[in-house]
Amino acid sequence: DGQETVLSPMSKKAQEYTEKSLLKKGVKLKLGVFVSNFINDEVHLSDGTTLEARNLIWAAGVSAKTFKGIDDKAYLGRGKRMKTDAYNKMEGFDNIYAIGDASIMTADPNYPEGHPQLAQVAIQQAANLGKNFNNDFRNPQPFSYVDKGSMAIIGRNQAVADLPKHIFIKGFFAWAIWAFIHIMSLVNFRNKMRALYNWIGYYISKDQSYRMVLRPNEKAKG
Ligand SMILES: Cc1cc2nc3c(=O)[nH]c(=O)nc-3n(C[C@H](O)[C@H](O)[C@H](O)COP(=O)(O)OP(=O)(O)OC[C@H]3O[C@@H](n4cnc5c(N)ncnc54)[C@H](O)[C@@H]3O)c2cc1C
Repeated sequence: DGQETVLSPMSKKAQEYTEKSLLKKGVKLKLGVFVSNFINDEVHLSDGTTLEARNLIWAAGVSAKTFKGIDDKAYLGRGKRMKTDAYNKMEGFDNIYAIGDASIMTADPNYPEGHPQLAQVAIQQAANLGKNFNNDFRNPQPFSYVDKGSMAIIGRNQAVADLPKHIFIKGFFAWAIWAFIHIMSLVNFRNKMRALYNWIGYYISKDQSYRMVLRPNEKAKG
């Protein structure tokens, strides 16, 4: 991770608990270093060290899709997100709006660097812009993000949650809340039931096909 800690947008408690949990699971953490190259089965890091690897899985950030004609740097901010004003109107245009991950808005006083790329931001911006459209922009409401908290799953029975009013939850309870919220956020009853059924199946069977932490075979080691 290029940052000095894991989960940099979350609280210190969440970061410390996550780091400890990952180390306990056998994950090697390299913090404060950037990947600078991948060549001849070697990953080169900014501190001059290298890691041997046949495959490199790139999971470092999302950049927005750009569109011909509005792909000039002047219109785009960090991550190629379209710069928008407080009403999600693209800067420099009268009839183009962008919300969610595709938009970067610096007009919200609590988020001068732009909002995090999260589902809640996209959902709340969609609702606000929809209302403004319905009112034909008479007395339009500027967007203001209501942070309902952040959660991250670490592994089986383990998650962290930063809730409003500095409430921090970790471990099984946070994991259960994470699962509940993600099931409830799915559209329609059928999808909710299908996901719940699959998750219960994975939980009971301990199906590891989705897991990334592979432990060495103890028997083979002798
Ligand atoms: C691996 C991963 C994990 C994440 N985990 C979380 C999490 O736990 N909690 C959280 O809050 N957020 C999470 N996010 C972020 C969250 O998914 C996004 O912030 C959210 O989906 C943004 O919504 P959106 O509608 O702006 O964009 P999207 O959900 O990306 O929707 C954009 C849609 O536009 C479509 N599209 C793109 N180009 C075109 C085109 N030219 N024509 C037509 N359609 C097009 C895409 O196919 C896509 O369906 C995660 C993201 C990733 C990648």
